[in-house]
Amino acid sequence: MFSESVIRLENNNLYGSSDNYKNHLINFRCETLTGFKSRISPARAKREIDCRSDNTSFEQGKINACPFCPERIYSETPVFAGNKRIEIGESVTFPNLFPFSKTHVVTVITKEHSPCSFTKRQIEDALQAQYMALKDTAGYPSVNWNNLSSAGASMIHPHMQGISDDSPSYVTGVYIKKSREYFLKNNKNYWDILSCCEVNSERYLFGDEIVWSANPVPFGEKEIRGYMPVSKICDFSEYVDLLSSDILKIIDYYKKSGHFAYNMTIRFGKKDSDESFKAFVSVIARINPNPDSTSDSAYMERLNFEPVVLTIPEEIGADYRHKCR
Ligand SMILES: [Zn+2]
Repeated sequence: MFSESVIRLENNNLYGSSDNYKNHLINFRCETLTGFKSRISPARAKREIDCRSDNTSFEQGKINACPFCPERIYSETPVFAGNKRIEIGESVTFPNLFPFSKTHVVTVITKEHSPCSFTKRQIEDALQAQYMALKDTAGYPSVNWNNLSSAGASMIHPHMQGISDDSPSYVTGVYIKKSREYFLKNNKNYWDILSCCEVNSERYLFGDEIVWSANPVPFGEKEIRGYMPVSKICDFSEYVDLLSSDILKIIDYYKKSGHFAYNMTIRFGKKDSDESFKAFVSVIARINPNPDSTSDSAYMERLNFEPVVLTIPEEIGADYRHKCR
């Protein structure tokens, strides 16, 4: 009734000397009937984001030990092969200690722990670093950002996440499949036609090369999409400059609307994409600001419709019998 694919990130040098994380299992599941997907990553329970037993304020509890702050980032984050991290401007990029993807990298955007705003340079450097980290992956890459704990960020310190897997996320997979079907049926690129429609609609915000408009069928509050003229991440770098100033405009609009938490996904096709699918950015505002807790829904749940959970279902039967009999 379902298929599964299990990968183990073991004995790679992603995790330096952190032996605890060397045998990291990720289980990808897909319901046969519907195609719905989810991922199970038991090691992510080690983040203990839901296990505070006292009343320590979330922010107070984390700020003193933030591994993304400059004093700790070089000693407490993992490294790529060759003992390296990617450093561009203020940004520092390294493998995710708690991955739920075959390739899963983190880019810390700023030196400041909790900045009130971002500069174009900061966004641009972070996007460029994500591009560098993902451009050679063979899978389906995406660049993602959960800003603030109410948007599901387990770390307040601003960071982007790049992931790439052999299969696309549920949402990206549907878009790729349907884009191809549309092209074969109509001999036209769906995304070119969509961009034209959006420019002439009341949902249009700005942009020509990258068209920004409100999604008519929103995945979340004030979802805004930026339609890019490329499909593959290898063509992304020439748009990093423009995209950085555009993303700042969206963040500024959200702030003026009272939204400080948001999720973002930039989804790309594969290296050998037939270009019937084109890359686009989705940003949604999160309207449940609660600084005392971390939401368990982030970009995977809200923008990719593919939940990341901690517990393997086959362990729940025995666990239930142990706890409840
Ligand atoms: Zn910090």
